[in-house]
Amino acid sequence: MTELNELTLAQARDAIHAKKISATELTQAHIEAVERARSLGAFIAETPEQALDMAKASDARIASGQAGPLEGLPLGVKDLYATKGAHTQACSHILDGFKPVYESTVTANLWRDGAVMLGKLNMDEFAMGSSNETSYYGPVASPWLPPDWSADQARAAASGDKKGLLVPGGSSGGSAAAVAARLCLGATASDTGGSIRQPAAFTGTVGIKPTYGRCSRFGMVAFASSLDQAGPIARTVRDCAILLRSMAGHDAKDTTCVDMPVPDYEKSIGVSLKGRRIGIPKEYRVNGMSDEIDALWLKGIDFMRDAGAEIVDISLPHTKYALPAYYIVAPAEASSNLARYDGVRYGLRVEGRDIADMYERTREKGFGAEVRRRILIGAYVLSAGYYDAYYVRAQKIRTLIRRDFETAFDAGVDAILTPATPSPAFGIGEKTNADPVEMYLNDIFTVTVNMAGLPGIAVPAGLSRDGLPLGLQLIGRPFDEETLFAAGQVIEDAAGRVQLPTRWWE
Ligand code: GLN
Repeated sequence: MTELNELTLAQARDAIHAKKISATELTQAHIEAVERARSLGAFIAETPEQALDMAKASDARIASGQAGPLEGLPLGVKDLYATKGAHTQACSHILDGFKPVYESTVTANLWRDGAVMLGKLNMDEFAMGSSNETSYYGPVASPWLPPDWSADQARAAASGDKKGLLVPGGSSGGSAAAVAARLCLGATASDTGGSIRQPAAFTGTVGIKPTYGRCSRFGMVAFASSLDQAGPIARTVRDCAILLRSMAGHDAKDTTCVDMPVPDYEKSIGVSLKGRRIGIPKEYRVNGMSDEIDALWLKGIDFMRDAGAEIVDISLPHTKYALPAYYIVAPAEASSNLARYDGVRYGLRVEGRDIADMYERTREKGFGAEVRRRILIGAYVLSAGYYDAYYVRAQKIRTLIRRDFETAFDAGVDAILTPATPSPAFGIGEKTNADPVEMYLNDIFTVTVNMAGLPGIAVPAGLSRDGLPLGLQLIGRPFDEETLFAAGQVIEDAAGRVQLPTRWWE
């Protein structure tokens, strides 16, 4: 039999329901996989005792015929989600020692359905980044080896500063790496400008950012509240569909969370695309995009056509303003959200001469360079003299971006196909000393989706010349995640599931 941690989430679920394996043995296998993979840096807090307690409770429910949809399935949780009594710091120093007394709604929904928590996953500090290099806990190494690297070379680098290994993407880098390395069956992630889809694309995994309002944000550490959404990363489209069904749903504790029934997303797997219209936006053929990304996109168009979809050329004319507008709106909201970290209420406190001095010292010590940069940009664009020139203008652009999509959907387009990232994964340290804008350019294909509040999925669609994963993105109508799962499955079937890397880190 396949090793237990090599099963997909759906396979593990079916084996548990058929009583072929127990939740406890499945959990034990994953706990051991996590322990053997510490050099990757994917988990920053392991909760094995809690995992085994949860697994035992699952086995009891299975025995009494009360198994939930995720019964006994071990998952990883991004450090951004409040988990009662467990490490919750959004990988920031400023939240040192913070252990919430409450549970986020998304994770509570997962535990309600029987899932098991293995621990907390590394991420960029406050979800700001595209490479998981801004984490207070250090970078995450992608399980994918850089071209021409031997396993020995990689093991040596992983136990050192990890330089030269590949980034898993960010900000949900721990989630993507843990899923690709088979340390958990799936993971929670979050996406403000691409942080689910970009790391999924870099690691050969699947990630979906649902429509804004689909999942509750209660108990998620806020970055930019009008853009943040929860979503899963898993190894197959089906696994993401199963996880999202449990994560989503109305919650009175988040007023932006919509009161709409949650479909059984798994039913969309295998639904035909015959007669569906897939839009191809010409503005996504950006300058400097590598020819292999272009070729991947063309391949994706063929997959859609072969599945019976009609391909239509569309225009999203305001795309070119999306990145600059995002990097005004997101820091503006962040500067406001992060004002709460003052050394008084939770986490780190650095004593000072008086209270103002204590605030300043705490924030200076507690925030990393990227977070400070965002706070400064945010405070600047919201300041009296510049508010109209930057913030108001960015919000207007945001409306125009949303209208671009509405126009396409009104014309009968069911989903839009684009590349997920402009390149395959890059090396750890490769972009951190460069101009920060270099890093921001990674989000070129994903930020528009958050600005418009739409659902987007990234699905592995092939390998680069160097053998690294590349992903395609599908963007859907509001609350039509079902079409994304159906079309995502078409890509997975046509491209074939990517062969994940052998476990060189063990
Ligand atoms: N990379 C983008 C940023 O740094 C998006 C991050 C995210 O989606 N959380 O803001």
